[in-house]
Amino acid sequence: MSKFSSWPQTFIPQPIDVAKPKLRLHDTNRGLVEISADKKFAIYVCGITPYDATHLGHAATYLTFDLINRYLKFIGTEVRYVQNITDIDDPLFERAKRDLVDWQSLGTSQVQLFADDMTYLRVIPPNNFVAVTEKIDDFAIAVKKMIENGSAYRLENDIYFDLTDFLSELKLPLDQAHQIFAERGGDPDRSGKRTKLDPILWCGPKAGEPSWQTVLGAGRPGWHIECVVIASDYLNSEKMEFSIDLQGGGSDLIFPHHFMCSAINQKLNQKKFAQYFIHTGMLGLDGEKMSKSKGNLVFVSNYRKNGLDPMVLRLALIKDPFQSDRMWEEKKIAQAAIEIELIRSALALQACQPVRAVIEKALHQIANNLDVKSAIQTILDWSKLSLDVKNNENKEKFVNETGLMARFLDSVLGIAL
Ligand code: ZN
Repeated sequence: MSKFSSWPQTFIPQPIDVAKPKLRLHDTNRGLVEISADKKFAIYVCGITPYDATHLGHAATYLTFDLINRYLKFIGTEVRYVQNITDIDDPLFERAKRDLVDWQSLGTSQVQLFADDMTYLRVIPPNNFVAVTEKIDDFAIAVKKMIENGSAYRLENDIYFDLTDFLSELKLPLDQAHQIFAERGGDPDRSGKRTKLDPILWCGPKAGEPSWQTVLGAGRPGWHIECVVIASDYLNSEKMEFSIDLQGGGSDLIFPHHFMCSAINQKLNQKKFAQYFIHTGMLGLDGEKMSKSKGNLVFVSNYRKNGLDPMVLRLALIKDPFQSDRMWEEKKIAQAAIEIELIRSALALQACQPVRAVIEKALHQIANNLDVKSAIQTILDWSKLSLDVKNNENKEKFVNETGLMARFLDSVLGIAL
């Protein structure tokens, strides 16, 4: 039984009997690739640190992986999807201290908020929604194993991963790597480390911070080891050379987090971590990156509390190319509302333009790196033709298939109308 319950299961309609192309996605390391997902597929998506949930950038990320999950299910793949909750993290402790609240209560309330937002947006819940605080002993056991196999070392009260064998795989200049590492919680300048980029695996006890008694003594886990252990404990790729099939998250996780996960997994489990690395672009507002430090976050819960139709927000967030950095604009809501209204009106008709060819076209567009914008245009064109009262010449071909279109929209795009 997990510490935090995931959100309620979403109804997924029966798949439709149409031609189903293989999914192609933009992989961060390799560009556009065809996803090999014949029978089973294991997805691990890095979850939230529960203190600023759920801004639209988070929502866009989890919606992207929801689309991947939905597409693979639609083509008949058995998908297992795991997401963690980073409920031990410096920013969470800092926020709790600032707001004079207990870090655990802050975490619990933010996880609940996140779950409510995901339910609202019709995101299929993960098979396992795992809090880091549930797995402390497993992290300690993994780190102990790494000390024993020589890939980790002690430095005073802490334990680090030795990154030496992986420095040649860095995709950015060393100076830049040091800088980003420092910005994202790393400590390149601590003396005694084997390489400046060695990430911390285990932090010894510190005054004012929680710590747990484990096989390593007292302390708490570092960030990267958490995702490696959770992913490999709950998931299993059918492909022998990988622990899981796909690791996902926002593009701010490419380095250091996902680079470190991959390196640590190779030393811990003697396999590559994931076959595919899929990252979502950052969402900005008014020309600037949306971030806590700039204080310009827009929250899903604000729209939810104001009673916005969740399908409108969902469509507005999934339309743009997922891997690109992009600006959020309020007018996207108005545009999505017009489109949802149009499609809803077409679905309410007794008879419509034939749908199978339309679905197949839209499916091809979605299979092409989740090109939702084109797929929605295809559906809008169908809606307009179906609603056109002057469209007399085609009226004799009209069919009673609006239910099929509704099933398609719900299964593949998560848009239930
Ligand atoms: Zn992670």
